[in-house]
Order: sequence, then structure tokens, then C-alpha cells
Amino acid sequence: MKKSNKLSTPYYLCDEKLLKNNLEILQHVQNESGAKIILALKGFAMWSTFDLVKKYLKGCTASGLHEALLAREEFAKDDSSLEVHTYSPAFKDEDIDEIAKISDYVVFNSPNQLFKYKDRVKEINPHASLSLRINPEYSASPKEIYNPCGIYSRLGTTLENFNEDVLLHVDGLNFHALCEQDVDALEEVLKAFEEKFSKYFTHLKYINFGGGHHITKKGYDVERLIRIIKEFRAKYGVDVYLEPGEAVGWETGVLVSSVLDIVHNGIDIAILDTSAEAHMPDTLAMPYRAEVRGAGAAGEKKYTYRLAGNTCLAGDIMGDYSFDEPLKIGDKVIFEDQIHYTFVKNTTFNGIKLPSLAILRENKTLDVIKEFGYEDYKNRLS
Ligand SMILES: *Cc1c(COP(=O)(O)O)cnc(C)c1O
Repeated sequence: MKKSNKLSTPYYLCDEKLLKNNLEILQHVQNESGAKIILALKGFAMWSTFDLVKKYLKGCTASGLHEALLAREEFAKDDSSLEVHTYSPAFKDEDIDEIAKISDYVVFNSPNQLFKYKDRVKEINPHASLSLRINPEYSASPKEIYNPCGIYSRLGTTLENFNEDVLLHVDGLNFHALCEQDVDALEEVLKAFEEKFSKYFTHLKYINFGGGHHITKKGYDVERLIRIIKEFRAKYGVDVYLEPGEAVGWETGVLVSSVLDIVHNGIDIAILDTSAEAHMPDTLAMPYRAEVRGAGAAGEKKYTYRLAGNTCLAGDIMGDYSFDEPLKIGDKVIFEDQIHYTFVKNTTFNGIKLPSLAILRENKTLDVIKEFGYEDYKNRLS
């Protein structure tokens, strides 16, 4: 790790103080509701912050072997209370032994997978708790690409496909049906889930409410979430888990880029040393418009530019933004809220350099925790 005040762009800068604020909100939810909160590594896996994160959260939810390994290596707690929950849409023969060894909870997507692997998992790790992911067949997810309960979804078991023999082997049930949603959406999902499955809850020790809870967003009704969880726990006598990713990394930092060139073709276009496709993929996948510090909508301020990436993909465009002053080559362009679902998804498409990772510590020192180069590009190819 090096300290640097001449960090070159592009880089992600995570602000530890903002991360801590989020963790304190999640801590409050845990303390008041009795729920256990684990980090979904899929959304946020900046493991250099985990010494902080693990002071607050019980463990991690992993989407497979690699994330489970990362949780074991980097989230280990002094009192060995770390919980690793591992779920994949489908596990593989070649991974299952190692997954069983390092997971405290193994969550299956279908009865078929559960029956295939339950004995093997228990043989390797008699303490592992097994669960099944349910599809409650209700979601108000704003985007189909992020809707686990949409039509023909492969994620989770529907009531029709549920097999009561499952109850002989599982201690819990999971669902994950939300995406960036408020607590009223959770209430609707819970209603559907309870209608279909509450008759089975007496067999269970826990219910995992998944992720997608926008708990740390301004205006989220945290007290109502606490009330709902407390009522649920009291009604059914089960533990409740939440496994947010986004809510942990929400608004905890930025992606800093530089203007490399400005071209004109009908409009002014600024080419940046970053990429929507490679470094901010959700802006294209969702799609959504990232906020740019100091900028407004197109036409709102005096000088409007299309901000675009330094790849050969025509559609590598962040959007049109306006500024009070004309952009100049070398100016910094700062994209807000780029710490979750960004570097966990990055690619080296076009051989473009991966942005460095940096952390602004609470004492205001800036640690560059990772820089990338040609080797990172080459090593993924052969
Ligand atoms: C993605 C995912 C999460 C985390 O979702 P966020 O929207 O980042 O909170 C939790 N659980 C499962 C099963 C997921 O697939």
C-alpha cells in the first residue's frame, strides 16, 4: 500500500467515514430489531475496508466459492463468530466440498440441488445449516433485469415446485426479491411469502429476507423496518437475516476521471479516461444516470457535454451533463456513488486500465490500496 497525493485517474475513492455512517445505521437496525445483517459481497467487496465492516456486520453472503473464500480470508473475526452464507443458482460437483468446508450456511436454489448435495455438505461440515431459496412470486422491482421474481425467473423455488420433504433437511428459508426498494415493497413481498409459506415456518430457525433493502438511503423508513422484523420474529419465533450489498456501499464514494479530449460532432463530447461499459456497467445495464459532481442536466447550466468513455464501443456513454464553466482537457470529472456494483463488475474491455482503488481514512489520509496495469489485462487472457 502506498500513500499518494499524486494519484492518477481513474480511481475509485471510498470514504471510510461515509461507510461507517451506513454501518451505524445497519447496527441500529440489528440492535433494535434483533435481525442479523450480513454483507452481500456481490455488491461491495472492497476488502481493505473489512476490518471496519466486520465490527458491525455478522458475516457475509457469498455467491459461490470465490466470494466464500474471500469472506473467510478477509472477514475473519477475533471471536471466530464470522458467518459465511453461500448461495448459488446452482452448485457444481467440483466446488461443493470446499464450499461445504468454509460455509456455515449453504443455501440451495431448488429442491433438486438440495437433495443432490445435502448429504455431502453434512458429511464434510456437520455444523452447516441448510436452507432453500424461495421465489415468493411477488416483486415490485423497478427493472426487469434486476427482478428475481419476474416471469420465468430461475432464482428461487416457487410454491408449485416446493417439496415438503425439503423441511426434513433445512433450518431456514431465504428469499431475495427487492432491488433498491423501500420498506413498503418489503411488506408486499412478505405478505406474498407468508401467504404461501408461513404454514412451514414452525419447522424453521430462520428466515433470510435477502437484499435490496435501501436502508441507508435518505428517507428510508428505518423504524418501520425494525417494527416489521420485530413483529415477524415474535409471530413465528424465527431469526431474521438481511443481506444487503448496495445499502452498505451506498453513497460512500466516487469514481474520479479526467477529460482526455473534447470533440465536436453536432454536440460537444468529452472523452474521459474511464468507461461506462467497463467501470460503471450499471449505467448501461440498468440503465441509470450517475450524478456528476457540480453538473446539472443537459441544458440546465451554460455548457453541455456528452460524457463518454475511452473505448471503441459507440454506446460507451455516461450521458449528457451541463457545467457552469467550459470543460477543459485535464479537468476532473467526478461520478458520485460509484462504490457498489462497480469494481466488483469491472472488465478490461478494450484493454482499458482498471481504475485504482483508494480509501479516504477517517483521519483524512488517503491510502491507495490497489493500482492496476498491463499484467492485470494480460493475466485474464491467454
Ligand atoms: C444481490 C443479492 C443480494 C444483495 O442485494 P443488494 O441489492 O445489493 O442489497 C442479497 N442476496 C442475494 C441472494 C442477492 O442475489
